[in-house]
Amino acid sequence: MFTPCPTERSQDIADRVERFVRDVVAPYEHDARCTAHGPSAELVGELRAKAREAGVMTPHILADGSHLSQLETAAVLKRSGLSPLGPVAVNTMAPDEGNMFLLGKVASAEQQARFLAPLVRGEARSAFFMTEPAEEGGAGSDPSMLQTTAVRDGNDWVINGRKKFITGAEGASVGIVMARTGEGERAQATMFLVDLPHPAIRTERVLDTIDSSMPGGHAQVLIDGLRVPADQVLGEVNEGFRYAQVRLSPARLSHCMRWFGTVTRADEIARAYATTRKAFGKLLIDHEGVGFMLAENLIDLQQAALMIDWCAGVLDAGSAGTTESSMAKVAVSEALFRVADRCVQILGGNGVSRDTIVDQAFRELRAFRIYDGPTEVHKWSLAKKIKRDTLGTGHHG
Ligand SMILES: Cc1cc2nc3c(=O)[nH]c(=O)nc-3n(C[C@H](O)[C@H](O)[C@H](O)COP(=O)(O)OP(=O)(O)OC[C@H]3O[C@@H](n4cnc5c(N)ncnc54)[C@H](O)[C@@H]3O)c2cc1C
Repeated sequence: MFTPCPTERSQDIADRVERFVRDVVAPYEHDARCTAHGPSAELVGELRAKAREAGVMTPHILADGSHLSQLETAAVLKRSGLSPLGPVAVNTMAPDEGNMFLLGKVASAEQQARFLAPLVRGEARSAFFMTEPAEEGGAGSDPSMLQTTAVRDGNDWVINGRKKFITGAEGASVGIVMARTGEGERAQATMFLVDLPHPAIRTERVLDTIDSSMPGGHAQVLIDGLRVPADQVLGEVNEGFRYAQVRLSPARLSHCMRWFGTVTRADEIARAYATTRKAFGKLLIDHEGVGFMLAENLIDLQQAALMIDWCAGVLDAGSAGTTESSMAKVAVSEALFRVADRCVQILGGNGVSRDTIVDQAFRELRAFRIYDGPTEVHKWSLAKKIKRDTLGTGHHG
């Protein structure tokens, strides 16, 4: 089901990652330390020790600090997702993978040594603090609704606000906090690098959510008088929204890559069931209803793989890929959700049990249709582009 690896080095890395995830990581899927708020810190540590031993830690960033191309990354990250625990084990998981990418592009050399290096080594985790409680009218789909403020005070910035759905905030040691730093017609924001845990960032609760793959779960936090020295501004003041875009396209594409792997595995499980389990005197796959579901899975997975590779190629060519990553995010998240849903159905009662990873694939993909831009928001921004392009060309039909 995987598209061919684009280079020899990515083939080699992808093969090693796949072997590690199938042979070493998958047996941990029933470990009691896989909690509703993600794998425990102890389990993450144990898996990462094994990944280091196997030489597959942070496989998309090479020893010299360079990053694989997006197309190569796709080959590797898809394999890392073959278990929902795989990305955690080999350090290709969200939000760290996107945060590492952003810090690699925007952070100063000193900031990289302090905040990025421990992430790349897989010794630390990070969190990205952007979304705010909808109940209080804060930023969600519309980032310009940002309410958290940062005010300059001497050599420091003082940040106040409340954030919600912050993946991995519990247990992270690096935080990237987005706060409003400018008023006026166009909202302006700045990103700040913060050491965690910090007494001025208090977890109010960890939400109980449908998904369960990400360590630390998703927290609501109160930021109360957080002082950040000016040299911990990430990049330039008032450039936060632009940096969010830098992070966004590759980060949303890498979610597509990892979840492609997980859903591919769910499909393997459904195929195995349908080709061994019998009902009404024949194998399930020989019932057209089931055979067609597997055929539709095959088509959806192939289309998803091609969308991922196409968008990765666009990013590799130097484009910001805003339009393409919106298209890919919608197409892939929706296709993978359909596949996961069919896998649940094919497995019957077992499909909704925790006996296989199929139910988790379904739950994770349901959440993915919302984070990194809900489907409707991407379609809305694509529609705006279509309108702009159409009216701009004067070809009104
Ligand atoms: C599992 C998970 C992990 C997350 N991790 C993080 C994290 O680490 N850091 C972080 O900052 N945030 C995180 N988020 C938050 C996520 O980015 C937001 O949930 C998302 O941006 C949507 O914002 P909202 O929940 O406020 O929904 P709202 O903005 O209230 O939108 C609700 C719905 O309205 C519809 N809608 C909105 N705008 C439009 C439009 N223009 N056109 C048509 N329909 C529209 C969509 O259907 C959307 O789903 C996470 C969310 C989840 C579920």
